[in-house]
Amino acid sequence: MIYSPEDYLMLSGIQHFCFCKRQWGLIHIEQQWSDNLLTVEGDILHKNVHDIGFDEKRGDKIVVRGMAINSAELGVSGVCDVVEFMRSEDGVSIFGREGKYKVIPVEYKRGKPKENDADRLQLAAQAMCLEEMLCCKIEKGFLYYGEIRRREEIVFDDEIRQKTVSMIKEMHGYFERGYTPKTKRTKSCNACSLKDICLPGLQKNISAGKYIRERLDETE
Ligand code: SF4
Repeated sequence: MIYSPEDYLMLSGIQHFCFCKRQWGLIHIEQQWSDNLLTVEGDILHKNVHDIGFDEKRGDKIVVRGMAINSAELGVSGVCDVVEFMRSEDGVSIFGREGKYKVIPVEYKRGKPKENDADRLQLAAQAMCLEEMLCCKIEKGFLYYGEIRRREEIVFDDEIRQKTVSMIKEMHGYFERGYTPKTKRTKSCNACSLKDICLPGLQKNISAGKYIRERLDETE
């Protein structure tokens, strides 16, 4: 299936979806948002990465920061923190540059590696966008973790690619129906930026947006 740009979902939503499908629905379908410490720290780290500069050459490597990416096949769009272009005979031509380059996405994260697949799936989706845009094959990428100051190599094998495609399909399914998934309360709720909005609505089995509107009506 080929998606139109107006139907693209945000790549950053993969983080929310892996953390809690309901949180993703509240943010991306119902447009609810609430900052907490974790999300603010994450935003600052990304802002620093994107502010450093756009394009930098280091020997055989070109580093591009804040590159806008999308995929019509996946129906997603977003921004790559860093894309490294490594000079290589097996690579692809890059507009305005001599030679051929291998393409390597690098995503910056606060904290340390997570137990869930969120970071790996987000990076794999970025790689698949870059493959579609640059007509190339990307074998691996890196996740850089601010807390441990280390890069982790991620290989884009068939398993991670299939998982990424089926998760994004599921997201599109919810989005098209305008349905925010219901879920049970878990220990993740304590660290959730939307718990004050979500939990009362969850208990009453109505949408968070409807719950807030009802509370506002009561105070008028
Ligand atoms: S409070 Fe819990 S159920 Fe609600 S969105 Fe957050 S993590 Fe999900």
